[in-house]
Amino acid sequence: MNKIFQRAKDHDNRDALAGFKELFHVPEGVIYLDGNSLGLMPKTCSERVRDVAQNEWSEGLIRSWSEAGWFHLPITVGNRIAPIVGAGENEIAVGDSTSVNLFKCLAAALKLRPGRKVILSEADNFPTDHYIANGLAGMIDGYEVCDLNPGDDLAEKLDESVAVLILSHVHYKSCRIRDIPMINKAAHKKGVLVLWDLSHTSGAVEINLKADDCDFAVGCTYKYLNGGPGAPAFAWINPRLQDQIDQPLSGWMGHLDPFAFTPGYRPAEGVRRLVCGTPQVLSLSTLDEALRLWEKVDRNTLFAKSRAMTSFFIGAVEEVCADQPLTLISPRDPAIRGSHVSFDYDNGYGTMRALAERRVIGDFRAPRTMRFGFAPLYLSFEDVARAVEHLKHVLDGQEWQRAEFNIRGEVT
Ligand SMILES: *Cc1c(COP(=O)(O)O)cnc(C)c1O
Repeated sequence: MNKIFQRAKDHDNRDALAGFKELFHVPEGVIYLDGNSLGLMPKTCSERVRDVAQNEWSEGLIRSWSEAGWFHLPITVGNRIAPIVGAGENEIAVGDSTSVNLFKCLAAALKLRPGRKVILSEADNFPTDHYIANGLAGMIDGYEVCDLNPGDDLAEKLDESVAVLILSHVHYKSCRIRDIPMINKAAHKKGVLVLWDLSHTSGAVEINLKADDCDFAVGCTYKYLNGGPGAPAFAWINPRLQDQIDQPLSGWMGHLDPFAFTPGYRPAEGVRRLVCGTPQVLSLSTLDEALRLWEKVDRNTLFAKSRAMTSFFIGAVEEVCADQPLTLISPRDPAIRGSHVSFDYDNGYGTMRALAERRVIGDFRAPRTMRFGFAPLYLSFEDVARAVEHLKHVLDGQEWQRAEFNIRGEVT
């Protein structure tokens, strides 16, 4: 391990982002490798929540819809996310969950391609994407979801029957990055629209929605963007499509003039028409606060740190756990790898529980994947080296065997 700690130190000495760690609350003694699932809390968020509750809510009450900017939060918060994903001003609406935004965007995309009845999805995509696609297709006669299976040739599956292709940019398990420009081009050539799920992308991996001519994108904000539990999701539609969009959750807050209280629905201009009902003010305010620190982040430095850190982790694990039957299922090439690393291991569940007992928090994805997330804003290479040392002890000592580590919790 000594050489590994020395390498970690060399990396940390060169880390231009090292100063960001102190902006986050890190629980005592914890090495947090789950920022890809729920990011750490930026310290100023608890203050902001208190301020919103004590001033904007309890004092300002209904006036805060205008005076505190509550009404515009879906768009103003979207503007903070825009540079992180390569989108422009007023192109992102924030609200609801990623699942609900998938529904809105999928339905809108289908409507733009009448006559085409296929949603092309990928069999091992994050389950909610799949569930939502099937839920929507099941409601409208004649529509179906076709699955891409590993090894399938995407170009072959793209034909004139396909209305929309829905994919994750970074895969939630393997962490493989999809080639967005190439896929968009192939799809557009066949008239297919593409809906990208950026849940494991935003805040960790380079993405240029506009430059790469994407059509639709949605994503979580409680992962690498640190917006807090249940933070509302974002949705982006290419401006060339925005004013053609009809989406079925046509609630009053996405109306052109919600306070006219007129009987007919007329969509707001641009992406605001994705807003359904009343915005989640407390969560949006917390997210707004969490996003403020991104103003000072040099994104290319962040993406490079993510690649260096995942490479460092893979190298260290393979060095010190060489005699263990761990199978790396993430790409070795950092250019096509996002910010987490997954190893398959038959005793993976017990191992992650044993690590948690040692205050090293990662997660487990059934049936046998151990997932370690590396949020570049608040992890040091030394943290990573220490996590590897704990992993070695858990595996060498077969700590995963202990009975209490093999009782499955409700959330894993
Ligand atoms: C985490 C995640 C989601 C979560 O969806 P919610 O509706 O916000 O719970 C969706 N898609 C992907 C790919 C994810 O990784």
